[in-house]
Amino acid sequence: MTSMTRVTDSNLDKASSAGAKPVDLVPSRYALQVGDIEVIVISDGALPFSPATLGTNATPADLQAWLDDMRQSADKFKWPLNVIVVRSGDRTVLVDSGVGAEFKDKPGTGRLALRLGAAGIDPASVTDVVISHLHVDHVGGLLADELRDGLRPDVPIHLAAAEAKFWMSPSFPPFMPTGIPDVLRSAASRFLDKYRNQLRQFEEQHEVAPGVIVRRTGGHTPGHSVVRMASGGEQMTFLGDAVFHNHFDRPNWYNAFDHDPEEAVRVRVRLLREMAATRELLVAAHVSFPFGQVAVAGDVFRFIPAYWDY
Ligand SMILES: [Zn+2]
Repeated sequence: MTSMTRVTDSNLDKASSAGAKPVDLVPSRYALQVGDIEVIVISDGALPFSPATLGTNATPADLQAWLDDMRQSADKFKWPLNVIVVRSGDRTVLVDSGVGAEFKDKPGTGRLALRLGAAGIDPASVTDVVISHLHVDHVGGLLADELRDGLRPDVPIHLAAAEAKFWMSPSFPPFMPTGIPDVLRSAASRFLDKYRNQLRQFEEQHEVAPGVIVRRTGGHTPGHSVVRMASGGEQMTFLGDAVFHNHFDRPNWYNAFDHDPEEAVRVRVRLLREMAATRELLVAAHVSFPFGQVAVAGDVFRFIPAYWDY
């Protein structure tokens, strides 16, 4: 990290309790239009992890080189936590839910409920929830009262059948950080217990709202899914955890949370090649800046952040 002073929510809270008017210098959201579909990305915060989780098969020197190229610390890498809200026709779709209160020791995470409010989105207006996969950083928000209490008690939750099945009896790759399998198993099983009756399971794909299609890719987890939005000749894909920030430069790196890392690489490269060809927009759970496009030269991809036009 550089020595730049960052404006954080806690700075703002302090300003507010000191009687100063809170200034929302960083609104933590961005919106784009895909034809008639409105897509809003909302940050749930950023989750610090050891950078080694970015590439369990990376050599230490290559990992160091990538972090240095990105001007990132060698000690901690902050995973952005992006959630999207999609409005199409009369539907309002929440895609993923952040970490909720699952990482109480990591301040600056679990901000979704607060930030939905700041974006003027009433959780009760959500007609559908899509969960890309059952990892804690995607279902944690639905386990916290703050968001759960605001949602309609019968809101349908769309999930690949393969994902629900996998988490009944999950297996874990050997390179996951110590303790993480227990954290993941606990969150997924609490989610399945609480929401079993609201699940709308699909096999391969399902149209959630006009032009909004959730499609199973597998790889990261067996039922991992992406969401494609298409309207008026425009297209955008929410990639979930198929692509992390390092995967444009290093698509072959195994993420520590990939349950089938070899399949995850195949899925990732296929998606990135497709998206480079269509030039469509992408948004992903752990890519910062969240909206952009991808270009390809040989086997290396390049992320092109969306042009700031607000
Ligand atoms: Zn994730």
